[in-house]
Amino acid sequence: MKAVQLVAHGRPGQFRFIELPDPNPAADEVVVAVRACGLNHLDLWLEENGLPLQPELPRIPGCEISGEVIQLGSDVDEWRIGDRVAVQSNLFCGRCEFCMAGEESICLHGELLGVERDGGFAERVVVPARSLVRLPEPVSCEASAALTLAASTAMHMLTRRTEVRSGHWVLVIRGASGVGTAAIQIARQRGAYVIATGSTDRKRELALSLGAQAALDSTSADWTAQVRHLTSKRGVDFVIEHVGGKLIEQCFQCLARNGTIVTCGATAGREVLLNLWPFFVKQQSLIGSYGRNRVDMLTTLSWAADGRLKPVIDRVVPLSETRAGFELLRSRSVSGKIVVKP
Ligand SMILES: [Zn+2]
Repeated sequence: MKAVQLVAHGRPGQFRFIELPDPNPAADEVVVAVRACGLNHLDLWLEENGLPLQPELPRIPGCEISGEVIQLGSDVDEWRIGDRVAVQSNLFCGRCEFCMAGEESICLHGELLGVERDGGFAERVVVPARSLVRLPEPVSCEASAALTLAASTAMHMLTRRTEVRSGHWVLVIRGASGVGTAAIQIARQRGAYVIATGSTDRKRELALSLGAQAALDSTSADWTAQVRHLTSKRGVDFVIEHVGGKLIEQCFQCLARNGTIVTCGATAGREVLLNLWPFFVKQQSLIGSYGRNRVDMLTTLSWAADGRLKPVIDRVVPLSETRAGFELLRSRSVSGKIVVKP
């Protein structure tokens, strides 16, 4: 099979586009022919060695996989050759206390697909059968590869870790990102008012086209004041963010009493300064959200199937141009997802 391997970390890292032997499944695994695989910030972290783990190289990155089952391990009886599937990239054991409670993403023995084992920037990938989710017929593999990771991460944030409801004010940071585009749509479907941020006209127009009531220029010095102005000085009930660093302090400036910041990433910094006095006086919350569970993926894909959630794809690139996709994502010049198609 053809595959893209990361052979040395860096910014950019060193990749090779090579021919590898076809993989074989263990008893509880399946081989999936990859039809599409979304590119994510996780891939950049792997490339730059920015993760708090030491993955072995060479490694095939790629975690947002959709495709077709083409080979079954000897113990697999719940799937058939030809089934269209998406893959839960937070690989989980299925036996620990958190898995038993359906909280797969915080499995005690979790493993990241495309980081700790080979992922989807290849023609084939081997995954545990329990990590598969059935792809509904109307959802294309490209749409799935643009939604199953980022949008189900947003689904997890807005419907499981918190519960955004009708009438709430929701601030979506980086509204043109994978998580952002989905968070805007999910919040609007639930009847909330949405303010998004974006660093360019194109990104702000995208946020507005997805239903945001307002889209603010995140490069302007007073965007947090604009949030307070739009909410009649009250502030927002929820902030959905994945940037971290200094931005968290700005998010608190936008937050109403009883408000909640939900964070699922730290692309701009992992250490933040938190002033506890306004935090407890205003009864605010800061909630972590990690990945997604299969139930979030199923909800996301069923919303996609009935048109409530639309994938936002910036471009589809062939497997041979995966490396250029990494550069594009790093440059932050994309609106929506980059999808690799083997
Ligand atoms: Zn587990």
